[in-house]
Amino acid sequence: MDIIEIFELYPSQADCIAHLENVRWHGNPRCVYCQSTNVTPAPKEKRHHCNNCNTTFSVTVGTIFHHTHLPMQKWFLAVTLVLNAKKGLSSRQLARDLKVNKDTAWRMGMRIREAMSEHKQRIILTGIVEVDETYIGGKPRKGDPNKSKRGRGTKKTPVVGMVERQGRITAKVVKKTELTSKKLSALVRKNVDITNATLITDEYKGYIGIQKFMAHKTVNHTVWYVNGDAHTNTIESFWALLKRGIVGQYHKVSLHHLAKYIDEFSYRWNYRQHANLFGYTIQRGLEVR
Ligand SMILES: [Zn+2]
Repeated sequence: MDIIEIFELYPSQADCIAHLENVRWHGNPRCVYCQSTNVTPAPKEKRHHCNNCNTTFSVTVGTIFHHTHLPMQKWFLAVTLVLNAKKGLSSRQLARDLKVNKDTAWRMGMRIREAMSEHKQRIILTGIVEVDETYIGGKPRKGDPNKSKRGRGTKKTPVVGMVERQGRITAKVVKKTELTSKKLSALVRKNVDITNATLITDEYKGYIGIQKFMAHKTVNHTVWYVNGDAHTNTIESFWALLKRGIVGQYHKVSLHHLAKYIDEFSYRWNYRQHANLFGYTIQRGLEVR
C-alpha cells in the first residue's frame, strides 16, 4: 500500500478509529482495564464507558498509539512510509512528510518499530541457512588503538545474522564475548532447524563446532568463484542494505537502539511479500503493549 491508498481508504479520523476498533475488538468493544464487555458509548466522541469499572477508554489505550494527540491518519501514513522505506527513513524526513516536529517524528518511528519488533516471536529457519557476523558502529575516535583494525578486531558492535536462501532472516546484536564457538553454536541451535537445515558460513573458527550437530558448509572468501550453493551472498546483501540504511538515515544510532533498527530492516525483509503488510503491522501495533 502507498500513501494515496491510505488516504483513500481512511479519509478521516473516524475511519481510522473504526478500523482500529474493528481490528482490536471485532465490533464488540471490551474494557481495556477490566476486560468487561459491559461497555456503552461515552459522550465524548470515539470513547467508550465501562459500566463495570466505571472508566472511559479509547481503542488506542495500551497500544503503540497510546497518548497521542496527533490525528490517527498521520499515524497510518507514518506506518506506510516506514514500511515502504527500504533503506530506512530518518525522523527528519518523517517530520517533513507528516508536518510534525522532529521529536514527535522520532517518537512515532520508535513506536512503529515496536510493532515491527521480533521479541515476541522466535523464528526457526530451515533449508539452506547462511550465517554471518558483521560489525556496526561509528568511526573509531582519533587515537583509538583499534582505529586501523577491521572486522573481528574492532570496537564496533557485532551483529550475527541468519537467513534462509530466498526466505526469512533473523539478526541479533551480540557481545564480542558471544562470538565463541560455544555461544555461536547455541545461537544456531536456538534459531535454526538443525535436523533439516544446511548451514553456510565463512571459515571463521567460531563456526567450527557446528558440524558436530548439523550439516555445515563453509565458504572460502579468497576464492573468487561461487562453489555450488556454498556462498553467503544473501546475508551479505542484507548487511549492505542495513549498513546503507544506518549510515544514510540513522547517523547516530546508539547501541541502545541498534537492535530496533535491525528488527525494522529484518521485518521489511521477512514480510516483503505479505499481501497486506499495512494491515498486519497495525494489528501488531495494537497488540504490542
Ligand atoms: Zn472496565
